Amino acid sequence: MSPALSDSPATLAITGTRLDGRDVDVLIHGSRIAAIHATGGAPEQVAAALRRVDGRRTAVLPGLANAHTHSAMAIMRGLADDMALMPWLNEKIWPFEAHLTEEDVYWGARLACVEMIRTGTTFFNDMYWFFHGTARAAVDSGLRCQLAGAMIDLGDPARAEAAKDEHQALREAAASYGSRVSFALAPHAVYTVSEDLLGWVRDEAERYQLPIHMHLSETQVEVDGCLASTGLRPVHYLDRLGLLGPRFLGAHAVHLTDDEIGILAARGAHVLHNPTSNLKLASGGPMRYADLRAAGVNVLVGTDGCASNNNLDLLEELKFAALMAKHATGDPTVMPAQEALDLVTTHAARAFDQDIGRVAPGALADLILVDLDHPLMFPGHNLSADLVYSALGRAVKTTVCDGRVLLEGGLVADEAEIRTEVSARLARLLTAAGLA
Ligand SMILES: [Zn+2]
Repeated sequence: MSPALSDSPATLAITGTRLDGRDVDVLIHGSRIAAIHATGGAPEQVAAALRRVDGRRTAVLPGLANAHTHSAMAIMRGLADDMALMPWLNEKIWPFEAHLTEEDVYWGARLACVEMIRTGTTFFNDMYWFFHGTARAAVDSGLRCQLAGAMIDLGDPARAEAAKDEHQALREAAASYGSRVSFALAPHAVYTVSEDLLGWVRDEAERYQLPIHMHLSETQVEVDGCLASTGLRPVHYLDRLGLLGPRFLGAHAVHLTDDEIGILAARGAHVLHNPTSNLKLASGGPMRYADLRAAGVNVLVGTDGCASNNNLDLLEELKFAALMAKHATGDPTVMPAQEALDLVTTHAARAFDQDIGRVAPGALADLILVDLDHPLMFPGHNLSADLVYSALGRAVKTTVCDGRVLLEGGLVADEAEIRTEVSARLARLLTAAGLA
């Protein structure tokens, strides 16, 4: 509990919500939490707030951070399922993506943002084509994100040069999207990016202090290919190139040796766990969560894209993560519910260097209110367990990001318009891709 940071009226007051077992009023000034009082402890400040949200029968938690997604792929939900990875890519995903425009990506990402807002995600880490489409969608939706344009050269020097030029232009343009959009480098994977381009990424990341977001050791085929072309497993190869460090974010990391886990830990690299995608695409898991944790690697959780999940409900993803970790080890005490929630709050705050993941004075006002009267939260023995194992994203009642209310009463602004736009675009895309 602390006094308000300033004498000006709060822009938002959330009254009567539960925080760590206490009833509190949360006062927000602009984009940050200004003060948290015992409910009724600061009636004048609550009365003066420009807007009030009734938080009774809710619990307040930090907004959740989705560590790895391709948000615009929400437009592909249910387009191709129950297929092996290469036919899935060759016959469905890539023909469809070949016809995407920046506007399609914008509306696909808007659709994803609706789903994230409804299920409690306030930050997402994204890698995809048409950077500006996703950036505009994040700005218009009110969410916070770290974005990168995917870089692929397939060993072609001309494509590598084009990727460098495009990336530099994006870096310069990214600042225009404001404080909620941060920028990263995203070499797609070791099998799609040349050693020359990876070296450039390392230097660029160092020069501008940028995160590196990359797919890493997702399948055995990827590991075998890396061994064949470089003589090294992916983590060893990236370490030799000098890419691994506290700004490196490796998605999937399913196929790791003990030695690779030790290197990731020693370099301070972060692992982005995507259990549902790994299970659905049969990527050869389970990811070695218990071993990564024991080694001290910072593990986060992401949903991957909707084409391989098929939703962006991060609480559901935590359920899969926890169950997979228990099943893999034969130990039901591995990844308890609160620890799972930590992966998408405090762990994410550290990896993305953002003042998120906590409900406290001074922190960014990115938070969610969970409905304690939801049937799947009843009778309420354990909030973390009820969220992670029972209610999932369905219990999210209110979502606030950067001090703005994005979900109230179960509705997100513009949702109907977004559905209409996506439907119209889908008809054209499916016909063009020969998938109608
Ligand atoms: Zn991915």
